[in-house]
Amino acid sequence: MHFAYPILKGKLPTDNNLYELFSKISLKQKDLILPLFIADDHAKQISSSNYFKKIPYSYVTQYIDNMIQKGITSIIIFGTPRKKSGSLQNNTEYIPNDMVTNSIKRISSEFKKKVTIFTDICICQDNPFGHCGITTDKTNHAENDMTLKILGRLSLEYAKAGSDYISPSSMMDGQVRYLRSILNDNGYRNTKILSFSAKHNSSLYAPFRNNMFINITSDYSIDKSNYQVSFFNPHETIREIQTDINEGADMVMIKPSMFYLDLVYRIKRKIEVPMVVQNVSGEYYLFKAGIKNSIIFNEKFSILLFLESIKNAGADKIISYFSPDFVQYLK
Ligand SMILES: [Zn+2]
Repeated sequence: MHFAYPILKGKLPTDNNLYELFSKISLKQKDLILPLFIADDHAKQISSSNYFKKIPYSYVTQYIDNMIQKGITSIIIFGTPRKKSGSLQNNTEYIPNDMVTNSIKRISSEFKKKVTIFTDICICQDNPFGHCGITTDKTNHAENDMTLKILGRLSLEYAKAGSDYISPSSMMDGQVRYLRSILNDNGYRNTKILSFSAKHNSSLYAPFRNNMFINITSDYSIDKSNYQVSFFNPHETIREIQTDINEGADMVMIKPSMFYLDLVYRIKRKIEVPMVVQNVSGEYYLFKAGIKNSIIFNEKFSILLFLESIKNAGADKIISYFSPDFVQYLK
């Protein structure tokens, strides 16, 4: 590919002085959370042609062991669509994902204290409409309270398996309060909550959806505007985060990162709980495509700048697909 503008290759740092740059940045290994997508054992073939790695269930502990060696200290587990449980519509007897439950059990018993486990709590991967809440028709109107009951069952199951944090990402009203009381009532007071408080309605999730939902829906442009936050209303973002803190969230999250750093900066100054920022799939793809097409040079330096800018804006922790690369650069 050829570009009409000059590319200032010579101005970028070399690998030699990158070492010095890495020693000066404020982002640390412990600030990064690695997303982990657990799938059945056919996952390798599915993921071979893209940047996403679905980890086959039988390979999970080996993979985590490898990531711990690299320097990863936190993971967030996501389930991927299951073949037979796609018929979630009106199904309040939603069955937790065994592959997720058993992976939490294996990771928490084998790597105790070496890795903090966060587990995503949502139903979209098994919902035929791809929505994060139960929808009783083809509209995007999610049945809030019906969905909360399912999220409660999932949270208990994954807390019991050994997840340190449960991470509700459905954006249902009152989800933190509801899940906190369910956990407390069942003896899981020590299980903490990282709430996906301000999940902006964004096209930057498309690579994730295209990869993860490929088996269950042909419509990748799912309209979640009824329950996700609008880019055009920063006050709503602030309100969502404040509400989750009032309801008992131990950590809050804002996503995506790239075009929302003004909000990260503003919100960090208003709150006292740790704030997580998710660097989402579309942002990751933009970088990877830029590197592949020689638009972005010096991958290490570019990733460093990107992640450090999120940290500087106010993120206490960053969920990022770049985590395995970054922790290695820090060594
Ligand atoms: Zn969801």
